[in-house]
Amino acid sequence: PKKHIATPIRTKEILNKYVFSFKKSLGQNFLVDVNILKNIIKHAGIDRKSGVIEVGPGIGALTEQLAIHADKVVAFEIDQRLLPILQDTLEDYNNIQIIHEDILEANVHEVMEAHFETEQPVHIIANLPYYITTPILMKLLKDKLPVSSLTVMIQKEVAERMAAKPNTKSYGSLTIAVQYYTQAEVMMSVPRSVFMPQPNVDSSVLHLVKRDVPPVHVEDEAYFFALVQACFGQRRKTLRNNLTRYFEETYDKESINQKLERIDIDGTRRAESLNMQEFATMANEFYNADK
Ligand code: SAM
Repeated sequence: PKKHIATPIRTKEILNKYVFSFKKSLGQNFLVDVNILKNIIKHAGIDRKSGVIEVGPGIGALTEQLAIHADKVVAFEIDQRLLPILQDTLEDYNNIQIIHEDILEANVHEVMEAHFETEQPVHIIANLPYYITTPILMKLLKDKLPVSSLTVMIQKEVAERMAAKPNTKSYGSLTIAVQYYTQAEVMMSVPRSVFMPQPNVDSSVLHLVKRDVPPVHVEDEAYFFALVQACFGQRRKTLRNNLTRYFEETYDKESINQKLERIDIDGTRRAESLNMQEFATMANEFYNADK
């Protein structure tokens, strides 16, 4: 058998053979360390029965390891130039399906129905392009896909924001959005040296376990997320201040104070001190008053 794709030597060979030039605009930083990939796969909870969805296979470094450890891999790649390369590098595996599509445009539900068994546990794994990490993750979460977990290599600071706890610098509306759908944990940090070319940022692997039901009850999800975002609008200002600005056209100061009092939340607090339950209670209070 050939050497693994995820080594500096083999990766250079492949890039040279196809005279491939990286597109920075597509966030192309390929992994060249097999041990890191095996580690990620092990911690992601993948086994021989698992179905896997990969976003952005590149030249197949991670895809190959997934094909070895899982039952089936379906990978979305946007860059047409990589299709013939993948056909070549992954020719020894018969359990991989490459789909040439922008993941943001893809109907992943349909793809899952077409390629996986009904009861098969499916995991999402990706070394994501940095420039659109958050839109991709939020799309995959909001689609409410029947997947067990998402394990993604992303920029370290973004991973920390998604897994943050209240009263920390990283805690914000992104934290709430991600943790509403999942239990989030930073699995490991990854040095720049395992990528080709090396990115200008540090990376971490974020592990997200899908929740069966949301951790809090909200009357209207869109309303809830918008309100949370508004509360963090100006981080250093008080809750009351951000709410007054957000509800400028709807409620005066007095009625905002009344609502906060009714749910027993001190308006002089800052958003970063509120937990998800408090945000939910607040959103429901304002939402119900709106009706
Ligand atoms: N998985 C490979 C690895 O680990 O070596 C490549 C990872 S590289 C960071 C990101 C990959 O995502 C690239 O192959 C890029 O072309 C692809 N990509 C970028 N934007 C995409 C999109 N919107 N939909 C699907 N793939 C995309």
